[in-house]
Amino acid sequence: MKIAILSRNSKLYSTQRLKEACVQRGHEARVIDYLRCYMDITSHNPKLIYQGEPLDGYHAVIPRVGASHTFYGTAVVRQFEMMSVFPTNESTAISRSRDKLRSLQLLSRDGIGLPVTGFANSTKDIDGLINLVGGAPLVIKLLEGTQGIGVILAETQKAAQAVIEAFRGLNANILVQEFIKEAGGSDMRCFVVGGKVIAAMKRQGPPGEFRSNLHRGGSSEKVKLTPEERSTAVRSAKAMGLNVAGVDILRSNHGPVVMEVNSSPGLEGIEAATGIDVAGKIVEFIEKNADAKNTRDKGKG
Ligand code: ADP
Ligand code: MG
Repeated sequence: MKIAILSRNSKLYSTQRLKEACVQRGHEARVIDYLRCYMDITSHNPKLIYQGEPLDGYHAVIPRVGASHTFYGTAVVRQFEMMSVFPTNESTAISRSRDKLRSLQLLSRDGIGLPVTGFANSTKDIDGLINLVGGAPLVIKLLEGTQGIGVILAETQKAAQAVIEAFRGLNANILVQEFIKEAGGSDMRCFVVGGKVIAAMKRQGPPGEFRSNLHRGGSSEKVKLTPEERSTAVRSAKAMGLNVAGVDILRSNHGPVVMEVNSSPGLEGIEAATGIDVAGKIVEFIEKNADAKNTRDKGKG
């Protein structure tokens, strides 16, 4: 098969591993910087052009679209879909996953466990919002943050009021969330491929840090999930319409609660912690599913 890997940087661990796994399994793979593609969207014969030449003959595409380039990146994925190329994750599902509010609404609709969460744009009733999630301590999140940046723990009512007020002044969209203290600064990253959890790790923030993100200096180790955590991860990926997903779960007093669902989960941390060939599992998924008729959306929506 001929497989395109959409990535801005061919030297990234995840990009290299995916390419390696494609080649190891007998496929042809090419890393494509999606920001440098341009497209012919008007013709009956949709085209993508890269480095002066049309991208032809691809069977599958693995999108690794960065959070800051969702708009253009998903347009390129959509163009591949219009060309009947099978994407590991569809453009619509990637867009969905990039909006924390939309994601939580979709998960909630499917009855998946979530921390008690309130949303506000520029509410005047700050105390009402704080009470909605049970008062301080609580977590305040910028809707479009990633890698733990824009996630704040407000330990007192006063701190919560001040932070919400500050964000309101900046016209920022924020989520206010019950603080899951019992998680102790750790979470479970469940790597889902094709409706199965193929690898899982526990991430732990450094001492004094409630955020477990590896980018914030957290550490990770292999973990055994409970059946409930496993099914929560699988159902979450399904609710988002993602074939490949990193589902982050906290262990709360009221069972597993989902933090977020990532559509381009990194491979380095999970492969190091578990020793599992995650890249190989993704390519195996493509082998089983990459059939033009499986390109469900054909770029619609
Ligand atoms: P990001 O997209 O920036 O990673 P997350 O919503 O995943 O934002 O939050 C980052 C980390 O902060 C989580 O992995 C978790 O460890 C911690 N965290 C976030 N929300 C809560 C919460 N409500 N209770 C406890 N810890 C939280
Ligand atoms: Mg996160």
